[in-house]
Amino acid sequence: MEYSGRCHCGAVTFTFQLPNIDAGLQCNCSICIRKNAIMSAHYVEPDQFNLLSGKDALTNYQWGDKDVNHYFCKHCGIYPFHDTTYDPGKYRINLGCVEGLSPRSLKLTQFDGRNQL
Ligand SMILES: [Zn+2]
Repeated sequence: MEYSGRCHCGAVTFTFQLPNIDAGLQCNCSICIRKNAIMSAHYVEPDQFNLLSGKDALTNYQWGDKDVNHYFCKHCGIYPFHDTTYDPGKYRINLGCVEGLSPRSLKLTQFDGRNQL
């Protein structure tokens, strides 16, 4: 399915393709627990993701071993997606940014990142 998403202010807009999204993922690592975001259960393949606008608005936050690019919009502060430095362009999506989804109504999987990262 084709999905579209954006940050809060609309500077960052994107489309991507995933099979029907019926589940979400939450993680309890030190950054995810602060963001409290519900993420896509799967990564989007690079050729299935299209950044429509906002390349200049995106800022990257890294911490720890710096293997994850935690992108956020420098205007509204919202995290729309992230990828990893070892798999660049393969994004996990913040489902709260996706049009037409109710992330809190999805089946949620808890990932114990606090003890695995
Ligand atoms: Zn924004």
